[in-house]
Amino acid sequence: MTANNGSTVQRIAMRIDGKDIVSESGRTYTSFNPFTGDGWAEVADGSEADVNAAVGAARKALGGEWAQYSAPARGRLLARLAQLIERDADILAELETRDSGKLLREMGGQVRSLPAWFTYFAGMADKVQGDVIPTDKANFLVYTRHEPVGVVAAITPWNSPLLLLTWKLAPALAAGCTIVVKPSEYTPASTVALARLVEEAGFPPGVVNVVTGQGPETGKALVAHPGIDKIAFTGSTETGRAVAAGAASTLARLTLELGGKSAQLVFEDADISAAADGVVAGVFAATGQTCMAGSRLVVHQSVADELVAAVVSRAQEIVLGDPRSPDTEMGPLANEAQYTKVLSHFDQARREGATVRCGGSTVAELGGFFVQPTVLTDLPPSATALHEEIFGPVLAVVTFDSEDEAIEIANSTEFGLAASVWTTDVRRAHRVASRVRAGSVWINAYRMVAPQVPFGGFGASGVGRENGIDAIKEYLETKAVWVELAGESRDPFTLG
Ligand code: NAD
Repeated sequence: MTANNGSTVQRIAMRIDGKDIVSESGRTYTSFNPFTGDGWAEVADGSEADVNAAVGAARKALGGEWAQYSAPARGRLLARLAQLIERDADILAELETRDSGKLLREMGGQVRSLPAWFTYFAGMADKVQGDVIPTDKANFLVYTRHEPVGVVAAITPWNSPLLLLTWKLAPALAAGCTIVVKPSEYTPASTVALARLVEEAGFPPGVVNVVTGQGPETGKALVAHPGIDKIAFTGSTETGRAVAAGAASTLARLTLELGGKSAQLVFEDADISAAADGVVAGVFAATGQTCMAGSRLVVHQSVADELVAAVVSRAQEIVLGDPRSPDTEMGPLANEAQYTKVLSHFDQARREGATVRCGGSTVAELGGFFVQPTVLTDLPPSATALHEEIFGPVLAVVTFDSEDEAIEIANSTEFGLAASVWTTDVRRAHRVASRVRAGSVWINAYRMVAPQVPFGGFGASGVGRENGIDAIKEYLETKAVWVELAGESRDPFTLG
């Protein structure tokens, strides 16, 4: 990234085969800072030709120098990359905040956690082992090899660009794949900066390439490219469906991390103060713009009034403002489309009869894309706010009378990303955790992730899992090798 002739607007080029590429078409688009409203960067708008070049570079690297790197050598490069990210964490976090409007303290925390992911997968690179398989074929040695799946297309959203890229990049590089990344058009800057660190760490050119541009053009061209062997996508469920349909034509392998409508289940025996903190963290942190937002509060009717009052009181104290200020607790929404969408949900909830217990509008004194932390009650079971992902600071409350009813409500969406259970009854905690259909369930906590722990969704929240010991398998093909040991001839017309 280079400054544009001394002006404050920066130019962001793509990174293909270790070089800055402005775009074959010469087209650029402007990236806006959602807090100031300023267009701060001119970004290369990738064309189909750029996608072809990036996939070509990744294919060349896959069959070239990169293939000569042993698994321990790949691990060493990943460990070096972890150190470089640690060195540049403040710069990367600043870029993320400028592009997305998310709090510097949130993005700083995320970026400083990335080395743990790279270190975890660095250690895994040389622990991928095949098996020798005993069969009833006495004269055969049979073994498996796990080989890199090939060229990976990593497509990421704007809400946590580097964290969600890391969940793909670290296992893919450990496995020996090469990668073409298409970051969100709203937040390309930190991804391009990371690609430079990948090269500085010593990865050969072409192992990691970045194409910037719009989803329906650049992203679509990447998904449809016959040179892509696997697509690792994080984004909305709607786009995920389009990506899966695109992958059907090439039969590329697929992992999808999609949207959610996660429930926080609070039982009558819960620590209400802790639950209130957890509910606030779940839906108002990151201005509600996280896939795992706990956007539904499913609460026992006997404690509903007390809990809702506590959540409303905390919501009204949330400090909104400059995402770079350490005192700010909630920044703006990340872009105009998101802002318009959240406002339309306020209108929809009112039309559907919701009581707006707090929030429900813009923040006049701040302007921009700010909306108030919002709590909705008295929603009919069919209410949009209980079923659609809003991706904003909006909590929809629903009450229950029995454990069975709580589980039925929790499972009454097409999504299944995350859930929490707030109770002091250890039996109930595990019983409910086992019955809720969600990829992550936190008991008396919310919003915890770690490199060692699988993350992903049931149902419309996704396909496959990221993180954890099995994540690397998503970037490997298994090959069975049969070795005839006796030199005997066989009947050519029988199987096995
Ligand atoms: P989005 O679906 O609009 O975009 C995601 C990415 O897909 C972007 O890079 C975009 O340019 C690209 N894209 C758009 N159309 C495409 C197409 N036709 N073909 C290929 N690529 C295309 O999502 P967003 O608004 O950037 O992010 C918010 C969504 O991401 C939310 O729904 C959220 O729940 C989800 N998300 C999920 C997780 C998870 O791990 N499950 C994590 C974070 C965000």
